[in-house]
Amino acid sequence: MARYIFITGGVVSSLGKGLASAALGALLQARGYKVRLRKLDPYLNVDPGTMSPYQHGECFVTDDGAETDLDLGHYERFTGRPANRMDNITTGRIYQDIIAKERRGDYLGGTVQVIPHVTDEIKNFVLDGNEGYDFVLVEIGGTVGDIEGLPFFEAIRQLGNELPRGHAVFIHLTLMPFIPSAGELKTKPTQHSVKELRSIGIQPDILMVRCDRKIPENERRKLSLFCNVREGAVIPAYDVASIYDVPMAYHEEGLDDEVLAAFGLTGAPAPNLDRWREISHTIKNPEGDVTIAIVGKYTVLKDAYKSLIEALVHGGIANHVRVNLEWIESEIFEKEDPSPWLENVNGILVPGGFGERGSEGKIAAAGFARTHKIPYFGICFGMQMAVIEAARNLAGIDDANSTEFGPTDEPVVGLMTEWMRGNQVEIRNAEGDLGGTMRLGAYPARFEDGSKIASIYGSTEISERHRHRYEVNIAYRERLEAAGLRFAGTSPDGVLPETVEIDDHPWFIGVQYHPELKSRPFEPHPLFASFISAAVEKSRLV
Ligand code: GLN
Repeated sequence: MARYIFITGGVVSSLGKGLASAALGALLQARGYKVRLRKLDPYLNVDPGTMSPYQHGECFVTDDGAETDLDLGHYERFTGRPANRMDNITTGRIYQDIIAKERRGDYLGGTVQVIPHVTDEIKNFVLDGNEGYDFVLVEIGGTVGDIEGLPFFEAIRQLGNELPRGHAVFIHLTLMPFIPSAGELKTKPTQHSVKELRSIGIQPDILMVRCDRKIPENERRKLSLFCNVREGAVIPAYDVASIYDVPMAYHEEGLDDEVLAAFGLTGAPAPNLDRWREISHTIKNPEGDVTIAIVGKYTVLKDAYKSLIEALVHGGIANHVRVNLEWIESEIFEKEDPSPWLENVNGILVPGGFGERGSEGKIAAAGFARTHKIPYFGICFGMQMAVIEAARNLAGIDDANSTEFGPTDEPVVGLMTEWMRGNQVEIRNAEGDLGGTMRLGAYPARFEDGSKIASIYGSTEISERHRHRYEVNIAYRERLEAAGLRFAGTSPDGVLPETVEIDDHPWFIGVQYHPELKSRPFEPHPLFASFISAAVEKSRLV
């Protein structure tokens, strides 16, 4: 039977609970255990798909088409296990299910309440589908003390008693702030946070304490004493140079030993951390560097592009270079000439995006990359903008546009209302719900023999994850191909353009899907590896 590790957070949000969970998962995996990571999100949205990336960061899409929390991206990158729809749940989804059941009459005669109905639903979710796993790590979003988190804390408290002895361990992640005027590290916020946790019946077994400097022994003892946690189980969690150093750093502080000891598991084999050491070494010893301009809309909030940033790091690992990122608000190019911003970069990337604001700037960036022969990588929206640019400036379709921005006579990018998923037709209409209705999740694509993208993948049949409502309009294929934009990849039925490329260019590729979601440090995505390699070439020419 699986053992459960519940990870909660206190003091402040953004302490990196997701990363801590992912790193612990990686450590247990490095000892030969089979791990699964899951996330409980207390907000009321059914999923993060309708939230602004400014609020919630990137929306991570799974193969089975769920729009999930970005922490699932960390889980995948650190453990290699593809996440699925059942790895993330929100209060919204739980209530949606309960209310549907109530309307059906499933609770006939009963009063439906938070305890037991909501908590039971959470517990059922947590316990479901874990056969074959040694450890299930369950991260609870938010911070202890949040009103909306209470049912989740109550549910995991109950599980602590209901699971067999030795099958549940609670980890609490907190912050130890340094007060410059006093010149001291403070334990009080952690004390309060643990007190809050204990007041709802959860005694943490392990404390992980984020701190920007070394925690002295006496402070560690103090935390142990006041928080009722063994001294050895107070684990400092310091900042490290790269997120891929986190598993090793936690191991050095004894995290995995403490977790196993808390389960009463002794004599487990030491973890094999060789591959983490290698990654860390490669990242720290680059043989050169390249600069990539990311022309987007959410450039102030890096969490909005979490997987993208990591995939670029992985592309750097594959080429033994450091990848420097220049974040550029696309709107700038609606007023200014892109030359001073873009002429010296080694690659230009236009990532996924939504809405008209800044789109003309992205089109200008794609045009600059095309005409100046700078490697260009257009992802989803970035492909759509590159197609519009080519339509206007290569094929002479002056009014080319996307119906995402309003009606147009030349819908080079248009709303998809019908497409195939396997043998099934998916149908949407323009006025339908916005939540969960995009073309979502893994779809196959077929590449033309001899295309650049086929050679990059080393295959003509692939599957990648999607998240978009609009598509490049296949009706324009002939005119665009005659002008030099090759539709190298399409859906297997040939109806939906999946990738475009320009032959007469060092590296110009647009993809309708999100390859960044499947890139891993140990398996850099071929497109990112190839794009960075083209940027390295370019940097040699500059
Ligand atoms: N807004 C575009 C669409 O819905 C692109 C989406 C994206 O880049 N993920 O099709």
